[in-house]
Amino acid sequence: MPEAPANGRCVHCLRLSELITADHVFPNSWYPDTTPPTVQRWTVPSCPECNRELGQLEKDLLIRFILCVNPKSLAASGLASKALRSLGLDTDGLSEKEKAHRDKQRTKIRSELMPSAELAGKPGAIPGLGPHGDKSALWSIPIPWAGLSIVAEKIVCGCEYKLRKRFVEKPYGISTFIDSSGFVPEPYASHAQLLDFGPGCSVRRVFATEDPNMALYWISVWGTLYLGARIGLADELPKLDQSASRAQGMVPNENSKTMRISPYLRNQP
Ligand SMILES: [Zn+2]
Repeated sequence: MPEAPANGRCVHCLRLSELITADHVFPNSWYPDTTPPTVQRWTVPSCPECNRELGQLEKDLLIRFILCVNPKSLAASGLASKALRSLGLDTDGLSEKEKAHRDKQRTKIRSELMPSAELAGKPGAIPGLGPHGDKSALWSIPIPWAGLSIVAEKIVCGCEYKLRKRFVEKPYGISTFIDSSGFVPEPYASHAQLLDFGPGCSVRRVFATEDPNMALYWISVWGTLYLGARIGLADELPKLDQSASRAQGMVPNENSKTMRISPYLRNQP
C-alpha cells in the first residue's frame, strides 16, 4: 500500500496541494512481471495533476519503448503483452467505447512509424532501444527526448525525497542525459549507493562530499535503457552540460508525427 504523504507539497511541481496522492518513483507501469513481491516500490507525495500527467506520459512512452526493446529481455518481461493490450490487441471483451479508444491509439502509433532506411546514419538513435542482434529494423518510431528527460527528473526527485526528505529546488537544478552503457566510472563507482527496484530498474547515486545536495545519478531501465542525471547549482548546469554527450532522441523530418507531451509537463520549473 502507498504510504501516507508527509505533507501537502508535491515533489514534482513543488506546489502546496490540498489533495496529495502517492506517485511511484519508478513508473508503476514499467515494473516487469518478474519483479519479486519483496522489491521496494517507493512512492512520494504528488499533487493529483502531476500524478495524472506523469502517469499518462509513462504509459505513452511504454507503448513506444516496447516496440523497440529486445523482446527476449527478461527484464522487460510481461511489458510487451501489457502494451499490446493497451492497443486493443491480444484482448477480448472490451466495451465499444474502450475499443474505439484503443483503435484510435493504434492508428496514431502506426502513423508515427518511419522507414528505418530513411534514418540510416542520422544522429538521435537512443542506445539500448534497438535494432537487436544482427537484424536490421524495417521501422523506427520517434521518441521525444523531452519525455525521457521528464521521467529521469521525476525518478531523481523521488529518490532525493525518499533518501534525504528533500525537494530539489533553487538554487539547485537537474540536467539529464542518455548513456549508452550505464557504466559508472571510477572514482564514482566505488562510492555509489545502489537503489534496487528489481529487474526493471536500478539506480546508482553518488553525492558531492563538499555539498551533499549535489549528486549524480545513473538509472538503468530494464537493463537496456540508461538515463543519467546531475543535480547541481542551476546556474552552473548549462556550462557543465556542454561537455556531456547528449542524445536528442530521434530527429524526425518536419512531416513526421511524434508522441505528444502535455504542455503541463513541458512547462514545469
Ligand atoms: Zn505537482
